[in-house]
Amino acid sequence: MVKTTCPYCGVGCGITATRTGARSVEIRGDDVHPANMGRLCSKGTHLGETVGLEGRLLKPMIGDTQASWDNALDLVAQRFSETVAKHGPDSAAFYVSGQLLTEDYYVANKLMKGFIGSANIDTNSRLCMASAVAAHNRAFGEDIVPCSYSDLDEADLIILVGSNTAWCHPVIWQRIEAAREKRGTLLVVIDPRRTETAERADLHLQIRPDGDVALFTALLATMRNRGKLDEDYLRDHVNVSEDFWDSICCCDAAGDTGLESDILAEFFTLFEDFPRTVTLFSQGANQSACGTDKGNAIINAHLATGRIGKPGMGPFSITGQPNAMGGREVGGLANMLAAHMGFSDDECAAAQDFWASPAVARKPGLKAVDMFRAVHDGRIKALWIMATNPAVSMPDAGFVREALERCEFVVVSDVIANTDTARFADVRLPALAWGEKDGTVTNSERVISRQRAIFDAPGQTRADWDIIADVARRMWHEDAFAYDSPAAVFREYAAQTGFRNEGKRLLDLSRWSSISDAEYDTLRPWQWGGPSPLAKGRCSTRDGKARLVPVSLPSVNVRGRKFPLRLNTGRYRDQWHTMTRTGLSPRLSRHRSEPLAEVHPADARKYELTEGGLARVATAQGSAIYRVALSKGQRRGEIFAPIHWTDQISSGGRTGRLPPQNVDPVSGQPAFKNSAASIAPAAVDWRAFLVSAEKPNIALDCYWTQVCGEHGWLVEMAGEGAVDIEALLPEGQRIEVQDGARGTLRIAVRDDEGRLSAALFVTRSGTLPPREWILAQLGEEKPGHAAELLAGRAANPAPDDGPVVCVCFDIGMYAIMRAITAQSLTSVEAVGKAINAGTNCGSCRPAIAKLVEETKHPVQEAAE
Ligand code: SF4
Repeated sequence: MVKTTCPYCGVGCGITATRTGARSVEIRGDDVHPANMGRLCSKGTHLGETVGLEGRLLKPMIGDTQASWDNALDLVAQRFSETVAKHGPDSAAFYVSGQLLTEDYYVANKLMKGFIGSANIDTNSRLCMASAVAAHNRAFGEDIVPCSYSDLDEADLIILVGSNTAWCHPVIWQRIEAAREKRGTLLVVIDPRRTETAERADLHLQIRPDGDVALFTALLATMRNRGKLDEDYLRDHVNVSEDFWDSICCCDAAGDTGLESDILAEFFTLFEDFPRTVTLFSQGANQSACGTDKGNAIINAHLATGRIGKPGMGPFSITGQPNAMGGREVGGLANMLAAHMGFSDDECAAAQDFWASPAVARKPGLKAVDMFRAVHDGRIKALWIMATNPAVSMPDAGFVREALERCEFVVVSDVIANTDTARFADVRLPALAWGEKDGTVTNSERVISRQRAIFDAPGQTRADWDIIADVARRMWHEDAFAYDSPAAVFREYAAQTGFRNEGKRLLDLSRWSSISDAEYDTLRPWQWGGPSPLAKGRCSTRDGKARLVPVSLPSVNVRGRKFPLRLNTGRYRDQWHTMTRTGLSPRLSRHRSEPLAEVHPADARKYELTEGGLARVATAQGSAIYRVALSKGQRRGEIFAPIHWTDQISSGGRTGRLPPQNVDPVSGQPAFKNSAASIAPAAVDWRAFLVSAEKPNIALDCYWTQVCGEHGWLVEMAGEGAVDIEALLPEGQRIEVQDGARGTLRIAVRDDEGRLSAALFVTRSGTLPPREWILAQLGEEKPGHAAELLAGRAANPAPDDGPVVCVCFDIGMYAIMRAITAQSLTSVEAVGKAINAGTNCGSCRPAIAKLVEETKHPVQEAAE
């Protein structure tokens, strides 16, 4: 049994992994890990389904040719050295990832900032929480998260800002639910969408996009007017500029937030009544052109009312990625040097002396969006991308693809052979994946945990830190990169945090700088800064005081005629980023098999969209196609689309091409949540789906998306003109039926042993059968008979269980509703007792709660 951590979100759950075969593993939550105490969400629970070697990059590649490590790394070192020698250090760049371990990050940062001499290293965490970092730095003088998860257990009021916690940080959500049950903690959710999280709140503020700065500024002004500021705390621990209080008087709370005044009043009174308040904020706050000001508006409200540094209270940024925090600590962001240092002369000298380096960067480098602009216009000529997929995930991803196409030399280190980004690589380097690599990560509450190897390194894969150090040695920096283990890297990193620190920065891990290899191997999770690093009210500013930071209200979005709507983007419950890992799990793929564009029914009528039809969402940057889902949880005039689909698994639903390159002016974080957009029905002549035992290669000019099932693949398709059947179906014995009048064609293909190898269902005007039964036939030794296969359903069908809600026990929506009705179930717990749903990972509990509510009180269709 190996103790390790989950590779997905920033909750950082501990896992006990028991290897059960060459590439199989049993996963359980680690009962003693402080982040989760045994809990896991659906993504963590089903990690075992993602550890196979399908699609892995297992050998170094130069172009499309397999290469030796020596040849590949010599080429990388030579091209980076030549580029820097000819064009200067800033002509090179690294774009790295919150998936890297701290040791990988440390070595990459040291090579770029300390030895190449440029600060052009930035991380995809820029897209996730850079605004929170900037807000922390402005308020506390250092990137300090002042809370711990235990504060959630002790709060009387929890406010979630821009966070669909039930889907995106499910184990934190379970902790919040436990606190509500145990001590009656109240929950306020501030989100333009009525998400599953918002459904469960005591108060949902369905705010206008980017209305948060106004909301928290109005909250602070109200607390001041009511005499609820903590004057003692302000006097002793906070620096307030003379004009700060004038700056908070100018907002029109209702007008700037789009909220009714009675809702605002209720929120303000809750805040006034419950000092033990934790405000969690996440991507909905950060991914904005005013994300840093949102963070500071939240922190201002906490500082001014003294709700910080005490149990059960504080502003709490939660990160999206497993090691976003580790990256922040070692300088993964272009505007940080290392060990939480900036670019002052003293800090640059400290880094240079510590590393004994020839050329430390003296100024911040280019942040992600600016970095790809510099690649596009030729200023950056050599780019190394590690463990991330910017051709999908960056805003205006079409521009990023152009930039990669133009770049003289692109290196990609990854675990997957064919990603959208890897297509542009001159050199691909095979890296270790989760379950193979060894090192540390830091979660959202500053707990450092070990990720440990479960499997041997497959093929020729190597650790990222090892690959980077090898390149550095080939660039003539042998001594500085002579690491022989991740423990050696960790010792050096820990020592650097203490070097000339003298209490200036809270991040000081120097007591771990002499840790032995054996101690590193058995390292238990521990939290730097302790549970409440600001408990003494002392920050890392010159005078030790925090600062109230004046913020600005964003200008209201003017709705143009061409793009009259606002597009919001985000995650699905069971998928992670670009699905290179979670897309391998059949169970996780069942929660959502296609990317949906969610719109309010009134907008659907206005734009002639139908539930289940296809729609094209367009922005000035490009367009994408989605299945339409009507949702009264959407504000009118707004669309929501998921971020996960790539060119590898769809032809149309790639959302990254839509948002513009707008960024927050302080943090450089892109504004993914509020893009000007339009929507229109996508006209198609036919709709179809294909199930196939072999992964199909869809080379048709049509809309398609694919997900994996237990025994094969499901492909949804639609298009114009004729359907090229031969391009879709394998060899084998075919049975088929055609109805010319209705434009229906159904074909099943069986192999020599009579097993179903593929089935295609096409219609021009009718309906298509449900997917579950026919998909399941792919795994049957004796599949249904011919008439059943062509009908797409059993002759004596079991009741339709509907779309899967509980992926752990494979229980569908209709099955849950039937149980609620038949057994008069009135709670999630009762449903769990009756049919098990929601009793394992718990990720579906908000959805079950909604079903209980809706079944008890059927929704009346209101006249719009
Ligand atoms: Fe992994 Fe889920 Fe825990 Fe996040 S909440 S770390 S995805 S198990």
